[in-house]
Amino acid sequence: MSTTGRISVTAENIFPIIKKFLYSDHEIFLRELISNAVDATTKLKTLASIGEFKGELGDLTIQVKIDSNKKTITISDRGVGMTADEIRRYINEVAFSGAEEFVNKYKDKAGDAGIIGHFGLGFYSAFMVADKVEIYTKSWTQSPEEEGTHWECTGSPDFVMKPTPRTDRGTDIVLHISDDSTEFLEDYRIRDLLKKYCRFLPVPIQFGTKEITEKDEKGKEVKKTVPDIVNNPNPAWIKKPADLTHEDYMAFYRELYPLTFEEPLFYIHLNVDYPFNLTGILYFPRIKPMMEPTRNKIQLYQNQVFVTDSLEGVVPEFLTLLHGVIDSRDIPLNVSRSYLQSDANVKKISAHITKKVADKLEEMFKNNRADFEQKWNDVKIFIEYGMLSEEKFYERARKFALFPTTEGKYYTLDELRKNLMDIHTDKDGQLVLLYTSDKEAQHSYIQKANNAGYTVLVLDSPLTSHLINRLEYSQDEKLRFARVDAGPLDQLIPKKDSAKLSILSQKQKDDLRDIVAKAVDKEKFSVRVEDLSSSDEPIIITQPEFMRRMKEMNMMSG
Ligand code: ADP
Ligand code: MG
Repeated sequence: MSTTGRISVTAENIFPIIKKFLYSDHEIFLRELISNAVDATTKLKTLASIGEFKGELGDLTIQVKIDSNKKTITISDRGVGMTADEIRRYINEVAFSGAEEFVNKYKDKAGDAGIIGHFGLGFYSAFMVADKVEIYTKSWTQSPEEEGTHWECTGSPDFVMKPTPRTDRGTDIVLHISDDSTEFLEDYRIRDLLKKYCRFLPVPIQFGTKEITEKDEKGKEVKKTVPDIVNNPNPAWIKKPADLTHEDYMAFYRELYPLTFEEPLFYIHLNVDYPFNLTGILYFPRIKPMMEPTRNKIQLYQNQVFVTDSLEGVVPEFLTLLHGVIDSRDIPLNVSRSYLQSDANVKKISAHITKKVADKLEEMFKNNRADFEQKWNDVKIFIEYGMLSEEKFYERARKFALFPTTEGKYYTLDELRKNLMDIHTDKDGQLVLLYTSDKEAQHSYIQKANNAGYTVLVLDSPLTSHLINRLEYSQDEKLRFARVDAGPLDQLIPKKDSAKLSILSQKQKDDLRDIVAKAVDKEKFSVRVEDLSSSDEPIIITQPEFMRRMKEMNMMSG
């Protein structure tokens, strides 16, 4: 016999779960409550824009205040506020979102209007740090004579709700900070959190005051106390690219990374609305070959709310070398990293960014090749990394990936084939590219190759040996690389008629080789005795390609 039934969720058993496990990071209570205040303000502005709200908007600044004596944090907004009935619906019912309801109601008239909330859980994150939470609120729909509503809850499922005198529209949320969360009563802690999560929220947020020095009418400097607005409600990425100058982009970069002195090489302004929403600005930093590049500088936002600055495992790895901001309503907030990775929108967004990055590089290559060649040294690691890790990017980048020669020319793969085919083809018809990893150390080998009419490429980035393997492995490229010091030229690029007579017998050659071989490191070098009549270097000591590459690869992966 079987029975069916329904698991019942009561506030008694869900409350402790919310308090303990809803968010791993307790600090995000501030983000959640300020997002709600921003939503309430955005809703009011939306209602005003469609003519439903006809009153004065007034100053909409959100206030955050700490009272260390009373051990409270208060977050106040002048948004839509709530009626008693709305508190019953939106607050007392856990997981019922007023944000979602608002979006559904007005989406025909105002789109989704940039509302942040939608799970109906954020408010309760307050109980992670507070043992009592109070709401003082009054709705925009209420007349000045009507009373507002006071709601109070101590974290048990019971709450008290009663009318309270209140003249102005809006909401104050008062958190009575619990004894194990007193860190949040420190000014600097709250200021840091505001800087982290609220830096670019679309409504001004005030935290205390600050002193500034201003010039008065007579040009005399005077000190003035002004509200300390902690955020920039109008960050560059939400503006239209046409309204921004190069200087604006650079200024925004400095705003994002005040401690980075180096200017980025170039940037991409992302702006997509369909089939997914994505805005943002990506900057290309100069990546120095010998320095460990900085990762995870990209900040992810959702409707201007900071989500994370660690996109590792979310976007293709090479993209984590970029700097900047991406903002998408379609990347879920409050979910685990593994969920993010498998999210269909996240995948589409990643693919889009990869494409945009390739578009930009190709455009630069096509529009101003000389400039692109000049920047090559600073972008090559990024491009090589992308070619190695993303097949899609490889296909795009093989058209503009450059191979510099020791003589200062830059060739693409196709140009190499076109220009070097004749002389660089071996007896089996394969293209063999000579390269140097160190122009100075391999100078004499380069000279010799040049004298013989060969071109030598300079491939000296830390990813070179990997990229070479990738290219050689490719069915389509049909080429081979040989480091210029890996052997005598006629061995590196064997030609049909390379057999020559030697004046030494094989025995004499072997003896001579053994004598020299004793003097060098056998692990690293190989020694060959040349045909003495025709060569100016009768004995050649080389570092065989295979042995060396194996070593390098092991070092790289170690
Ligand atoms: P969500 O924001 O995902 O909808 P929350 O738990 O954060 O869920 O908030 C629940 C609801 O409570 C909101 O949707 C909103 O209707 C209401 N609310 C919360 N804070 C405020 C506020 N400051 N002003 C007006 N309404 C609010
Ligand atoms: Mg919310």
